[in-house]
Amino acid sequence: MSRIAFIGLGNMGGPMAANLLKAGHVLRVFDLAPAAVAAAVSAGASAASSAIEAVADAEVVISMLPASRHVEGLYLGDAGLLAKIPTGALVIDCSTIAPASARKVAEAAAARGLAMIDAPVSGGTAGAAAGTLTFIVGGSAEALERAHPVLSAMGKNIFHMGDAGAGQVAKLCNNMALGVIMAATGEAIALGVAHGLDARALSQMMAVSTSRSWATEVCNPWPGVLENAPASRGYSGGFGNDLMLKDLGLAAEAAMGTGASIPLGELARNLYAMNSRQGNGELDFSSVIKLVAKDA
Ligand code: NAD
Repeated sequence: MSRIAFIGLGNMGGPMAANLLKAGHVLRVFDLAPAAVAAAVSAGASAASSAIEAVADAEVVISMLPASRHVEGLYLGDAGLLAKIPTGALVIDCSTIAPASARKVAEAAAARGLAMIDAPVSGGTAGAAAGTLTFIVGGSAEALERAHPVLSAMGKNIFHMGDAGAGQVAKLCNNMALGVIMAATGEAIALGVAHGLDARALSQMMAVSTSRSWATEVCNPWPGVLENAPASRGYSGGFGNDLMLKDLGLAAEAAMGTGASIPLGELARNLYAMNSRQGNGELDFSSVIKLVAKDA
């Protein structure tokens, strides 16, 4: 069992930390939000008053923060965490951030003699709670082998995509496809409903036909079709529209870096931006259906 510093206890980090505790690891946690720290403490973690205090005697450091600027801000610079992490510790960043940021932080970690992997996740808040996340990893095979017991307490699939930053590239590919599929599925269901079809019957057909996807089977965007989907609870919880917007922006940046063309990804990014401007940024990303269906 490892002494783990866990930083960032939000919708994802909170339940991930709880699963590490259940597996018997010893956790020292920090989040800027006191309520998030309190929840982890009631699950058995001990609270640190800063990230630096959290890593003081850590063997493994895990971060789960919103975006690149938070991760760079945490680790880099004279006052950054990399200067404080004990020599020999393993650093695992699970946030979804720009591949270039992940490489920058991993290089700075290596310069300090610390092994680091980028390990963004797929599976949503339900996967985080159930301990069934997919980890999409970039970094050395040796570092991933050390991370394995910790990752497997929080997830069931681990994919090694390549060197530092490769996990982030693969995660962006996944989320770009997901963003496009969700918008397309919403549009299709809205078309059916506009013709008087029942959304549930239409979705049940699609879920076993050629347009089946996570959007039809798990996170259907029409309210009431799937009881446990965010759409059936006012689009609350789940994966925020603005996080999807962030990921599609990262995909666009990554495409520009190589000259790749992503016409559907760019279109989807605009749809999620429009949904955000309608005041739906905090809602689950399946609320993008609201752009084409007033009743949703
Ligand atoms: P969240 O906003 O719920 O949680 C982020 C937490 O980080 C917050 O509690 C915040 O207070 C804390 N934080 C921010 N800066 C900090 C700092 N400097 N020090 C300490 N704590 C700090 O976000 P989330 O939904 O948990 O997502 C986290 C990451 O996981 C994002 O990169 C997101 O894209 C990715 N992700 C989310 C989902 C999902 O379904 N929510 C799924 C897969 C991946």
